[in-house]
Amino acid sequence: MNLPIYLDYQATTPVDPRVLEAMMPFFTNAFGNAASRNHSFGWSAEGAVQQAREDIASLIGASPKEIVFTSGSTEGINLAIKGVAEMYASKGKHIITSQAEHKAVLDTCKHLEKLGHPVTYLVPDSTGRISVEAVAEAMREDTVLVTVMWANNEVGTLNPIREIGALCHEKGVLFFTDGTQACGKVPVDVEADNVDLMCLSAHKIYGPKGVGCLYVRRRKPRVRLVAQIDGGGHERGMRSGTLNVPGIVGLGKACAICRDELDESMQRLGSLRDHLEARITSELDFVHLNGNKEHRLPGNSNLSFPYVEGESLLMGISDIAVSSGSACTSASLEPSHVLRSMQVGDDLAHSSIRFGIGRFTTKEEVDYAADKVIEAVRRLRAMSPLYEMAQEGIDLASVNWQAEH
Ligand SMILES: *Cc1c(COP(=O)(O)O)cnc(C)c1O
Repeated sequence: MNLPIYLDYQATTPVDPRVLEAMMPFFTNAFGNAASRNHSFGWSAEGAVQQAREDIASLIGASPKEIVFTSGSTEGINLAIKGVAEMYASKGKHIITSQAEHKAVLDTCKHLEKLGHPVTYLVPDSTGRISVEAVAEAMREDTVLVTVMWANNEVGTLNPIREIGALCHEKGVLFFTDGTQACGKVPVDVEADNVDLMCLSAHKIYGPKGVGCLYVRRRKPRVRLVAQIDGGGHERGMRSGTLNVPGIVGLGKACAICRDELDESMQRLGSLRDHLEARITSELDFVHLNGNKEHRLPGNSNLSFPYVEGESLLMGISDIAVSSGSACTSASLEPSHVLRSMQVGDDLAHSSIRFGIGRFTTKEEVDYAADKVIEAVRRLRAMSPLYEMAQEGIDLASVNWQAEH
């Protein structure tokens, strides 16, 4: 077993060796421009891009013509939300989203708000889920777009996408979902699930960084977009720029592997995740699960350890690469906006850890991580008067902390 152990698969993933192998020829011998129509270099690049479109479409139940290549999900999100808002502005301007979305969605919506598009930010329930009823209640005459993510990147909660999509179709409102964490990890079918637009990103599914795509529905309804990058009219005019052929080949191969191994990987990651949680909760008390136990990504476990300080805990498990909802680890000074939107208190947010289990995680690594976490939490709690009080059953919220004077 090699240290450090990587348990941060929701942040990014290593490129699968099979993906790398598929990409290699397109850096050297097969270096053609997929838009070159006059020679075999171009044709073979175009053929490989076409194969990738088919593999991606087949993973998500789309048609190859509905795939628009991008530099990743951040770009796909910008193109979907800004592209729809601009295209349909004369029909209406209101957008519905949620407070638990990725910053790429939230910041894009804030940008549009400044340009005069009203935005409703739905509050998820305490497990991070948006209900179809909440979306229905927020609908207005002038609503043109609903954007609710499929799977949350911090807590792994899955939203009722099929139901929200059905509501949108019934109301004639377009539905975009950020599928970055869902595609390749749980079943996704844009037809059955009533999705009109969806982004995904190669580096979250064992492909290379800097490439992704946007699914854009072509019929029932036909979605139109205003391009956000103008140029040679590539990708049916929706996204200009010479295609990143090796990256696209990698994305296609990554999708093909995810499709072939979906059932098996859901089983394997789910049981590793359950094993991790069972070990931790059998040896530690007061462990809090952030997220939805039932509707959750198989490889995600977001836990809070009250009565320990987040930063000390991370230092105590320094040979395990994980993410924290604590402010101390992120660029911004606020604790995770996702945990806040779920009404998780700051104390719990500060001691939260996201364990991301993935394709190359072994049981041995999970056991090592569990041992380390248990040991670190025990050691820190042994020094905590708050933990002692909690064990004695003293309700900390009722304690009057003010010194007498
Ligand atoms: C990683 C991620 C993004 C951003 O994707 P990039 O391809 O890195 O731009 C967007 N949404 C979610 C849910 C993510 O996990």
